[in-house]
Amino acid sequence: MNQQTAQEYVRVPHRLTARWREPAGIYVNRLFLSMRDKKQLLAIKCPKCGAVWFPPEPVCGRCKVRIEDKEDNWVKLGNRGTLLAAYHVTGAREVDPSTGWHPAGQVFNPIGFIRPDGGNEWTLLAHVMEEPDTTNLKPGTRVEPVWKPRNQRTGTMQDIKFWRIVEE
Ligand SMILES: [Zn+2]
Repeated sequence: MNQQTAQEYVRVPHRLTARWREPAGIYVNRLFLSMRDKKQLLAIKCPKCGAVWFPPEPVCGRCKVRIEDKEDNWVKLGNRGTLLAAYHVTGAREVDPSTGWHPAGQVFNPIGFIRPDGGNEWTLLAHVMEEPDTTNLKPGTRVEPVWKPRNQRTGTMQDIKFWRIVEE
């Protein structure tokens, strides 16, 4: 008689933590150093079509030409911007963008899609908003970044704590 018995398996929950470092790339490296040292957002402008890309990319996503790393192509974005949209990606809570984790019980504020001054229709930055209520985050709202103090800035997008509404 060849009768198989069902094997019971016990599942053990486990979270694997893997840490690694990788280069940001030449263009994003320049952006992050500028953010860390000068609180200055940098973008890059395609010499062919004029699209202003943030974060800066070596190839234009629109017309596919190489954007050379030269001063004429770099754009200093303004210290304010215009909100295009804001929402909670996963209901009231969001995944931590720096880890990809969703800490239990931690409530994240809305993500805002922002066009910094000096950008154009191709320029878009996604970041955390100070305002927790999306009904107060209407398209066209003027916003500005709130930077961490210099000794806490490490050269990442988290050097900006969040973006807040400004009255103009
Ligand atoms: Zn282009």
